[in-house]
Amino acid sequence: MGKKKEAKGKKPAKNKPTSKKYSKYKIEGDKIVSKAKSCPRCGPGVFLMEAKDRVYCGKCRYTEFLGKSSE
Ligand SMILES: [Zn+2]
Repeated sequence: MGKKKEAKGKKPAKNKPTSKKYSKYKIEGDKIVSKAKSCPRCGPGVFLMEAKDRVYCGKCRYTEFLGKSSE
């Protein structure tokens, strides 16, 4: 008793989708345009994470509020 076969769940290897890192890039023509804003402190390559009404850098905690630019 207790013999279980794990027949399902294993599928033959498929081509993996491109790394998610590159989903932040959008290719327009020959150019690669970054959809995400990069951190002004950490420089390009470090993207700001999107929150509800702001973006922030997980590395240096830089935060930029969206929408209202006048305060
Ligand atoms: Zn940063």
